[in-house]
This record gives sequence, structure tokens and C-alpha cells, in this order.
Amino acid sequence: MLTYEDEIGELTFDKKDETKGALQVLNWAFETYDKDAIVYACSFGIEGIVLIDLLTKVESSATVVFLNTHLHFQETYDVINSVKEKYPYLVIKLIEPELSVEEQANQYGEKLWERNPSLCCHLRKVDPLRKTLQNKYAWISGLRKEQSLTREHIQFINQDHQFKKIKICPIAHWTWKEIWRYAHNNHLPYNKLHDQGYPSIGCFPCTSPTCQEEDLRSGRWKGKDKLECGLHENVRRS
Ligand code: SF4
Repeated sequence: MLTYEDEIGELTFDKKDETKGALQVLNWAFETYDKDAIVYACSFGIEGIVLIDLLTKVESSATVVFLNTHLHFQETYDVINSVKEKYPYLVIKLIEPELSVEEQANQYGEKLWERNPSLCCHLRKVDPLRKTLQNKYAWISGLRKEQSLTREHIQFINQDHQFKKIKICPIAHWTWKEIWRYAHNNHLPYNKLHDQGYPSIGCFPCTSPTCQEEDLRSGRWKGKDKLECGLHENVRRS
């Protein structure tokens, strides 16, 4: 079994197959790790739904975790419910931060996301994911190279130095068009905010619609020099 401490070595997946290597990577993941030793951390954007559909072809009762910051749009909870109905064997867990939004305001002041979004993300996303991954060897993510410059270096299998786990990105090579083609061809449910100019959807205080010519993630933390929530830092291919 490949662990964070190991050299990743030669792993070859065919990027030219029908799913651009995604099903091969997922098959490898569930042959390599017991299904209790791996989770998919999903934000339930359109990439997430495509990846769930592919995941269930390999392991119908895989575990999917959602970082429930309690600052998500209602549309995001609606799509989670649709996914639960469509994939009844999937284990979907909502991961809670230690502090409620109110407790966070009492401890750090109101609207921490406006003054210190990195700390807010740390409390509501990074720490909860770290705890979730404690007894896991690997996690799956829906990152794609094309999403932004900060994600260009992503490979199928990565060493995640932040969480000290193997991080698997099956759809790393998919384009935005390919994601939507797959979603439409397979009649997948999706977050209705995608139809209202939101290509990337996170917490409501930090997500805005974007213009067509903008980067797909430019609506996140608009006006701030923050590009990532902190879950995808310090990831290198060995
Ligand atoms: S995305 Fe915004 S509201 Fe959500 S955890 Fe990060 S800073 Fe807080």
C-alpha cells in the first residue's frame, strides 16, 4: 500500500481513455486502500458531482465528506440531498467545525471572514478536514489543472505535505467543457447557482458570480489576495 512516507514512483494511467484516466485512477485507489482508509472531500460543485458519479462506478459505498461550515448556500444543501437520493449507497458525512458561527463570533469577533479569511477557513475547513483524515491513508479531491494557476501542478497521485497523506485527483486533466458534457449526458443533478454565474461555489460570504472572461475561481474571496481555502496547499508530486 502506498503511504505518504513512500516514494510515489512510476504509476502510469492512460490520460487518453474515455474518462481521461479518472476511472483507472479510482480503480487503483480502491485496489490500493481499504474503502475505510480513503475519503473523498467534496464541495458538491459540478466537478464534485461528476467525480461522485465516476466514484460510484468503482465503489458504490465509498465515503464522501463535506465540510459543513454552516456558511453555505441553501442551493448547496439542495444538491447534496439530490445526490443522496441518486446514490443511496454512498456514505455522505457532513463534517462539523468545532465552533458554531455564533461561538466563532464570540471568540474572534463578528464576520471573521471579512477580516481574516485564512483564520476563518482554518477553523471551519482545514482543522475539520485534518481531524477527518487522521485515521486515513489517502483522500480524493476534485481538483483540475485548468481551474487556476495555483492548480496547474496537480497530478493524479500527489504527496500532500500539509496533511501528510496521499492525495488523489482523478479528474486532474478534465476541462470545464468536458465536465459539463459528462454532467449533461448523464443527467446529473447540479447546484443551481452554476446557472446564475457561479462557476465555483463555496461559502456565501466569500463567493461571487464571475464574468465569462474571468478565471473559473475568480469569484472566490473576490477583492482579497486569497486564492485557496487552505486545503490544497503544499501538495507536490514526488
Ligand atoms: S470560505 Fe469564507 S466563510 Fe467559508 S470558511 Fe473560508 S473564510 Fe470562512
